[in-house]
Amino acid sequence: MAHTRQILLALILGVIAGGAINLLVPQWAAPLDQQLLTPLGQVFLRLLQFIVVPMVFCALVLSFTQVERGGHVGRYAGKLLGLYIVTSGVALAIGMAVAAWLTPGTGIGEVGQANVQAAEPMPLTQWLVSLVPRNPFEALADANLLQIIIAAALVGIAARQLPEQSQPFIKVLESGYDITLKILAMVLKLAPIGVFALIASVVATQGLELMVKLGLYVVGLLLAIAAMALFYLALMALAGARPGAYLRHFGESLSFALGTASSNATLPIALENARAYGAPHQLTAFALPFGTALKRDGAAVLQGFNALFVAQLFGVDVTLTLVITIFATGLLVSFSTAGVPGAGLVAMSTVLSAAGLPLEGVAVVAGVDRFTDGFRTALNVMGNTANAMLLARTQRSPKGSSPETESEALERP
Ligand code: ASP
Repeated sequence: MAHTRQILLALILGVIAGGAINLLVPQWAAPLDQQLLTPLGQVFLRLLQFIVVPMVFCALVLSFTQVERGGHVGRYAGKLLGLYIVTSGVALAIGMAVAAWLTPGTGIGEVGQANVQAAEPMPLTQWLVSLVPRNPFEALADANLLQIIIAAALVGIAARQLPEQSQPFIKVLESGYDITLKILAMVLKLAPIGVFALIASVVATQGLELMVKLGLYVVGLLLAIAAMALFYLALMALAGARPGAYLRHFGESLSFALGTASSNATLPIALENARAYGAPHQLTAFALPFGTALKRDGAAVLQGFNALFVAQLFGVDVTLTLVITIFATGLLVSFSTAGVPGAGLVAMSTVLSAAGLPLEGVAVVAGVDRFTDGFRTALNVMGNTANAMLLARTQRSPKGSSPETESEALERP
């Protein structure tokens, strides 16, 4: 928790320092950014990414070795996918409703031309085939979370069937997991500097003029993101999981996501926060990497909101067919948005082209994307962790721990 306060303070100071550079010494913005702010921010992001793969792999294999045949994972995956589809549908609907209500795309004036190519979506069968790793080291080296889940399932289930022979290997993974926790604690000490540098870099280098011109777009998108976050808190309250306890434990992950704009880099912190929250580790060791690979409520809100904004901007009639097309493609695109900064912006072209809307819309909002990205990412992390905690409510916790317990004594995965 101490980290949450430090990170939020670093965020505020980053905005102040970046704003001061942008307004008072704009000629320093580019050199300061290139020589200092971006390198510092990148070092911090890379250190976080450094832990993701070993931590997730150790946690997943250990979880598979402890549970009978890994059958629980199939059940978790099915339930999570059901929850994801419903909640991402709500996120898209909220994004579209706020855009229809505020009409941020009207009255903006000249928007300029740009040559933007639509990203080609991968066919479903090819995507399913690509989930199966052909080389475990390739899956790990590419940090492909879905392939890592499958590789870990194979290793963990096989290890469980060889209880004696697998003992040394399991010991290595247990100590590997502890080492990644130690590294995470070390990296977290750098968090305030890293987050400060990342935010100051954005504010110092992005023109504030564009923020004013697209002010209603930014405000509308943030409102839609806030509405979806409130929806999750209400859902948790309805499910009997205290929203206050959730925010206390996951505030750290959410503020990290806000500062780094990367769901992937936030995953190790989310795993740790879930542990402190007291959620069953067998569930979170699977559900959080699974959600980090797939679940993007912020991207869903963005796609729904942005597509209607572009339709308003270019004076395109909003018909029922257009709404359904935006909803369906936005949902699919949100599931395939990468957990890295700016991924939602890249994915926009797929939705716009499917809906027959001008791709220039991507170029219009590109300048403010980095400002909204942190908020989207925080919602992405909230959707992932909240769905996992909701699922945890329906599971029996190991050794009687309850999902809300601030458990001091949670064992390893
Ligand atoms: N930056 C987001 C994330 O890491 C993805 C996006 O651009 O919406 O989750």
